[in-house]
Amino acid sequence: MTSLPVTVATSQSLLAPYAVRDSNSHGRAHREPPPTYRSEFQRDRDRIIHCGAFRRLEYKTQVFVNHEGDLFRTRLTHSIEVAQIARAIARTLALNEDLTEAIALAHDLGHTPFGHAGQDALNACMKDHGGFEHNLQSLRVVDELEERYADFTGLNLMFETREGILKHCAPAKAAELGELGRRFLDKRQPSLEAQLTNLADEIAYNSHDVDDGLRSGLISLEQLREIELFAEHHEAVARSSPELPARRVIHEVVRRMIGQQVGDLVETSIARLRAAAPADLEAVRAHGEALIAYSDSMRERNLELKRFLRTNLYRHYRVHRMSGKARQVIESLFEAFFGDPRLLPDKAQEQVRLLAETQGEAGRARAVADYIAGMTDRYAITEYERVYNPRELT
Ligand code: MG
Repeated sequence: MTSLPVTVATSQSLLAPYAVRDSNSHGRAHREPPPTYRSEFQRDRDRIIHCGAFRRLEYKTQVFVNHEGDLFRTRLTHSIEVAQIARAIARTLALNEDLTEAIALAHDLGHTPFGHAGQDALNACMKDHGGFEHNLQSLRVVDELEERYADFTGLNLMFETREGILKHCAPAKAAELGELGRRFLDKRQPSLEAQLTNLADEIAYNSHDVDDGLRSGLISLEQLREIELFAEHHEAVARSSPELPARRVIHEVVRRMIGQQVGDLVETSIARLRAAAPADLEAVRAHGEALIAYSDSMRERNLELKRFLRTNLYRHYRVHRMSGKARQVIESLFEAFFGDPRLLPDKAQEQVRLLAETQGEAGRARAVADYIAGMTDRYAITEYERVYNPRELT
């Protein structure tokens, strides 16, 4: 048994000098004894996997609403893909793989039902009460909303995990967040692990949205052949395997797209790290810009693909129709619950009482937003039916 803690120490000693490790971390808000056979960041990862908000990701929209098909990505499979890409990059760069995995698995915990349409609708409902932003909500989930431990509310995660979850933040909000918000005010960088997980998120969704977009028929091969990042690989695969069935061609192209973006990110970041030679984590934070980055040409290709997806997939009329319905569900639920909190289940009513006691009307609105944000797509639709359909008696 005594050899186990040594294994943890050894794996951390293989990390680059500027990597996050247990020993240079800002630690947890509530002090806890260190874990005996895991690193602190493994413990964070494990806490995230066991929390309720993580399980609900299975039934939340990425682009396609959950019931539209069993083959499309959900927030859960998206988060796992981000973790896979982030871990591969972290290991190559001798950075803290456990931390990147924890950030990746937690980064979308605060997402509302129905993807971005849901978040925009809830933000509009909350405009007089402090707004709603999914990134901040992910932090709120791990800091305050999960109730699983005897000694503290939330998951009491390490500072660097929380820092990675909070990808961006408006200055006014940052000022309310204390130490965690400081970097947005002082224009400092987050850890390299946070930087790379952020880009792994982008690699994951750009690639899988191409795959899901084609599968759904909302975008076509002909359109994508105009996009450099896709076209180059598509031509190469068509040339080398002309007999391959169409679906397999697409899988092979998407696989190569991910590989190329990861390769570019790794190569460029190694060059930047060599040039800047940060001595430690503090030097990474103080550096004028992010050290994890694509090459200029890859950034351009990425932007082209992003623009394409925005115009042709995210704004496709069929996605837009669903977004319209999502807005209606979210707005109606908010209106009903905010207007009359007695319509809420007991536990949510209790939350409304608690937050209204300390923060008045804004607190009441926040508790309603927390309840709605926590819903899965199908639960939101069921609640909508229960509240508004007179034939639904429960
Ligand atoms: Mg994401």
